[in-house]
This record gives sequence, structure tokens and C-alpha cells, in this order.
Amino acid sequence: MNHSGRLLCALYLATCGGLAWTTVLEFLHGPRWAAFLFAAASLVPVIAVVRETLIRDLRESAAGPRRPAPKAADEVVRGELEAACCERWWTSLGRDHDVSCPHGMRRSSAA
Ligand SMILES: [Zn+2]
Repeated sequence: MNHSGRLLCALYLATCGGLAWTTVLEFLHGPRWAAFLFAAASLVPVIAVVRETLIRDLRESAAGPRRPAPKAADEVVRGELEAACCERWWTSLGRDHDVSCPHGMRRSSAA
């Protein structure tokens, strides 16, 4: 995480602490609706920290020399291609098979 990202996360956490403290004060001395409002609001900076961390991870994985995501995508494509039966099955979205295919039960017959 770069310098501005860390500063932003520190600001988010300070805001979260302030809102949590306000939540406690509202529970003790204020109306209940305000306490619940501040409790919900204190979660928003936590979401922002998680988002900031995810953005950092995405940037690092996109800029890094090794990219694991294409490997995973290659595995998925390879698995799908190996699961394919025959060309006609592939192009007909799994409805029909080639005549020479061992699974060749053609759904529609030529009349
Ligand atoms: Zn087939």
C-alpha cells in the first residue's frame, strides 16, 4: 500500500473510532435511534478500509510480473475443452452430436 493509501486507511480508522465512541455516548445519554444510526455509520469506514485493501491487491496483481489470474483462467478453459464431446456438441450448445461420436444420439432425425 502506498503512502496515500496508508494515510487514507488511518483516517478511515480514526473516523470509525470517533463514530464508535459517539455510538457509546448515544447509547448512554441519547436517543436509541441516534445510537443505532451511529453504530451503522461506524461500519462505513471499515468497508472503506476493505475496499482500499482490495484496490491495492488488484493493482499489485495487475502490475506484477507474474499474474496468477490468467493461469486460473487457462485451467478453466482447459477443463471446459476437455469436457467437450465433439464439434457438433460444442457448436449446438450440447444438444446434438456428430454421427461418428460415440455419444451420437441425435435428438432430431431427418424426416
Ligand atoms: Zn458428441
